[in-house]
Amino acid sequence: MARIGFIGLGRMGLPMLRHLVEAGHAVRAFDISEAACEEAREAGAEVSATCAEVAAEAEGVISMVPTGRHVLEVHTGPEGTLARLPAGALLIDCSTIAVAEARALHEAGRSRGIAVLDAPVSGGVMGAQAGTLTFMVGGEQADLDRARPILETMGRNVFHAGPAGNGQAAKVCNNLLAGISMIAVSEAYTLGKRLGLDPATMRDIVSTSTGSCHALVSYPPVPGLLPNVPSSREYRNGFAADLMLKDLRLAERAAMETGSSLPLGTLAAALYGLFCGGGSGNLDYSGVIRMIEGAPSPAANP
Ligand code: NAD
Repeated sequence: MARIGFIGLGRMGLPMLRHLVEAGHAVRAFDISEAACEEAREAGAEVSATCAEVAAEAEGVISMVPTGRHVLEVHTGPEGTLARLPAGALLIDCSTIAVAEARALHEAGRSRGIAVLDAPVSGGVMGAQAGTLTFMVGGEQADLDRARPILETMGRNVFHAGPAGNGQAAKVCNNLLAGISMIAVSEAYTLGKRLGLDPATMRDIVSTSTGSCHALVSYPPVPGLLPNVPSSREYRNGFAADLMLKDLRLAERAAMETGSSLPLGTLAAALYGLFCGGGSGNLDYSGVIRMIEGAPSPAANP
């Protein structure tokens, strides 16, 4: 049993925290949302008033907040965790942020004697709930060895992607692919339907053919093909299109920094930008099929 701090109790953070509590760890939590704190309390965590308080006496602290700005505020701000984390503690950030921001966090930790891991995840809300997330970890191997039992409480696959920031490098490449392929799959389902092809038949055929991919088989944007995907619940409670747009913009930023060219990634960012700009940013990113179909988007979450 370890004393763990957890900051960011949203769609991903709360189910991750539940696994830590169920495994018997003593978890102290914080979120700026009082409702989220109440859910954490009900899940068996102790709730603190600030990030610094979460960090005091913790052996490790985990953050799962929306963007790099939030991550730096949570850890390096005046009430941040680095002000109070005991020397030798581990700081694990699981949010998806820019590689450069992750490396800045490693540096801030190192200057205070705190080991940092960037450990973004894949697997979505369903993976967080089931405890089957994939962690892509950047940092020192010895620090990952210490963190592994904690990460394995919340996930099934834990990969060492390399030194500081490389977890985010793996994540940005993954989400570049996921964002582009969801649009491609939406185009294919829409075209198939207009050609008279039943979407379920198309899924069966393509899943054993050369066009097969995760978005088509396991996360279809067409409602009713699978029961437990966001498209079958009006695109709610999934991976928000706003977050996909954020990740594609992280990919564009990484491309600028490395002199890379991302023609499809840039186009995908523009399309999600239109979808989110139309008021659908809170819906799951697979809802982009409604825009491809030219159909009105389902009402966004309040
Ligand atoms: P979310 O918006 O549901 O939750 C984020 C939580 O962080 C909210 O409860 C918010 O109140 C809290 N927060 C924001 N600023 C804070 C601060 N300063 N201090 C404390 N709490 C603060 O987002 P999410 O879907 O849980 O995603 C979190 C991160 O995980 C993002 O970086 C996202 O890109 C990444 N991610 C999400 C998914 C997914 O399917 N939702 C999948 C993989 C990765």
